Amino acid sequence: MVGWQQQSKAYSAEKQFNSLSLLVSRQRAWIEINLSALAHNVRTLKDFLAPQTRLMAVVKADAYGHGAVTVAKTALANGADCLAIATLSEGVELRQAGITSPILILGAVNAPEDIKAIAAWELEPTICNPEQALAFASTMTGLGKSLLVHLKLDTGMSRLGTNWQEATPFVQFVQKLPNLEIASIYSHFATAEESDRRIMNLQHQRFRQVIEQLKVEGFVSPSIHLANSAATLSDRTTHYDRVRVGLALYGLYPADHLQQVIELKPVLQLKAKIAQVKTIPAGEGVSYGRKFITQKDTKVAVVGIGYADGIPRNLSNRLRAIVSGQLVSQIGSITMDQLMLNVDHLTDVQPGDTVTLIGQQNKLSITADDWANALDTISWEILCGFKHRLPRINVN
Ligand SMILES: *Cc1c(COP(=O)(O)O)cnc(C)c1O
Repeated sequence: MVGWQQQSKAYSAEKQFNSLSLLVSRQRAWIEINLSALAHNVRTLKDFLAPQTRLMAVVKADAYGHGAVTVAKTALANGADCLAIATLSEGVELRQAGITSPILILGAVNAPEDIKAIAAWELEPTICNPEQALAFASTMTGLGKSLLVHLKLDTGMSRLGTNWQEATPFVQFVQKLPNLEIASIYSHFATAEESDRRIMNLQHQRFRQVIEQLKVEGFVSPSIHLANSAATLSDRTTHYDRVRVGLALYGLYPADHLQQVIELKPVLQLKAKIAQVKTIPAGEGVSYGRKFITQKDTKVAVVGIGYADGIPRNLSNRLRAIVSGQLVSQIGSITMDQLMLNVDHLTDVQPGDTVTLIGQQNKLSITADDWANALDTISWEILCGFKHRLPRINVN
């Protein structure tokens, strides 16, 4: 093997290694995943639920950017009962990592080859309509096996699922198909994080009506679920026998008014290192487009992280960071791989110092919610936006 090949092999081996100091010493920017915080959140959620209520940990989109395999394993080890992901390949990734718990695919799968893969990997699909149910039944009949399936009803989200008005015949249709075994019936809220409960209550009422109707017709589903994080925290009558919790696992609240319900700890911290420190003379522009002009000689730190790592460029001149336990302002346009901080009021700041862009230090904290508020979006999108160029480093 030539030198660079050996180097690159050693480097990728190191990337897998979960030791903070070793890993961090080599990174320009990284994400820290606090596994104790995650474990705390899972246990706290589990304690909050009635004893017989199962906790489904939603780990789609690489566990909201946190790393699906690690999050799934930690969640299951701390009281989660089953998992949910969005796509077939996300499910396969978990199976390949040795995870044996039930895994629900929240998205829709239709192609016969994908249906076969679902069966082979023992994943549990969502069935949204009679056509899809037929495709599954015929593929499973060809395989001579049966499959657990979850039926999705649309009660007002207007996304996947059979409209609630047609739900009873849909469920009865699937019930009669060969080789499909109904594992659950579920629906999803559109407004559970809002303090105005009207639409949420209407959706719940429609869902309840379908469940009651099915009961009258002689069908009792083995499992019924409805609640996401917001509904889990705000309305126990939505829990049924399991809840599907995503955001709260990661230590964020779906809405400010839910902060009192349980104590969650943020799991993700975003950090980077200072690459260079220098003084920019008064009147100079900083970064592309000169969107920041120094008013006086200003000490500036160049940090090795940028929009290619998932920091939205729209946060330019608005982002803040914690350096040496103090809050500092980011100045000028955020570039692809680098950004600049105004560190003029810091006395001792060196290349190699760590900058916290999301996280806590010295009672200071910057959250994904702060970014979301500044950008008029939601914390879910911020978390999912971090690129894989940032290694996820697990800490305790
Ligand atoms: C993503 C998702 C969830 C989890 O939502 P959170 O608000 O993150 O808890 C639950 N159910 C479905 C159908 C989803 O798509």
